[in-house]
Amino acid sequence: MTRTMSLLLGATIAVSAATAAQAQEVNLYSSRHYETDERLYSDFEDATGITINRIEGNADELIARIQAEGANSPADVLLTVDTSRLQRAAGMGILQPVESALLTERIPANLRNDDNLWFGFSQRARIIFYDTERVTTPPQTYLDLADDAYEGMICIRSSTNIYNQTLLSSIIENHGEQVARDWAAGVVENMARDPQGGDTDQLRGIISGECDIAVANTYYLARAIRRDVDGLSPEDRANIGWVFPDQGGNGAHINLSGGGIAANAPNFDAAVAFLEYLASDQAQEYFSAGNDEYPVVAGVTIAPSAAELGEFVADDLSLAAIAANLPLAQAIFNEAGWE
Ligand code: FE
Repeated sequence: MTRTMSLLLGATIAVSAATAAQAQEVNLYSSRHYETDERLYSDFEDATGITINRIEGNADELIARIQAEGANSPADVLLTVDTSRLQRAAGMGILQPVESALLTERIPANLRNDDNLWFGFSQRARIIFYDTERVTTPPQTYLDLADDAYEGMICIRSSTNIYNQTLLSSIIENHGEQVARDWAAGVVENMARDPQGGDTDQLRGIISGECDIAVANTYYLARAIRRDVDGLSPEDRANIGWVFPDQGGNGAHINLSGGGIAANAPNFDAAVAFLEYLASDQAQEYFSAGNDEYPVVAGVTIAPSAAELGEFVADDLSLAAIAANLPLAQAIFNEAGWE
């Protein structure tokens, strides 16, 4: 990956020396892991003539890389599947503020950084799925997942996963540290198997009968409603029901995918154009139509697949608070023996 990038850079330098900034580009460091994003990027390239050079990795790796590259970093935009990582990057000083009337007008204040260091572009809820035949009284809240009634029934992925980390961070914020400790220990006791696989694997676990209850992000089921996903055909998932948790309380936990501009971005203007594109109606619709997420811009159509899961109350916890609780969340996971 490093080699490819240096080759790209070499090419860029040669080009700009020869043709004086004719070729416009954005170096995108992305931890979004969805094939359907290709279309999002190619639409931008077609509309603007700006080329996107994509470097993929997990968010922690990309952040470490930008930091290590320092003033010479070719990174223009950092895009992650969870803004708690962006908040950490902001704290490390590797992002710069973006003054864009378009971004601040279109993206609600609670879905972007106070200093405009990052912006959320799509949302998803982390919810409870269950087998409608084997589970007669499914959990209605996240705390219910730790109830003795569900012993040996729950599948949920590893604690190294950012979606689970922010979920536990939200529990710490909403209910306090002690409740969060008891919850993590209780869920570990209720696990049907050691944590393994991604969110789709938790849903497949319900179908195989290994799991009765699973925790996953909304789009992992919604995309199976829209297109063929291996092992999640309509027949396969006929008995999967779902609960948007905490509807009588704090609301369902939301994770937010977003991006910001690197502190030393060599292509700042093109990077701003890219972020503004991500907030356009077209791109916002595409986040939903292409990856079954929820748009952040009001009035943008939600994909039928995502809409089919139903309306729900979302937890509007401050993302800064969630990010601040992450180190404690990791410590609690470790203490609970949540692999
Ligand atoms: Fe995901």
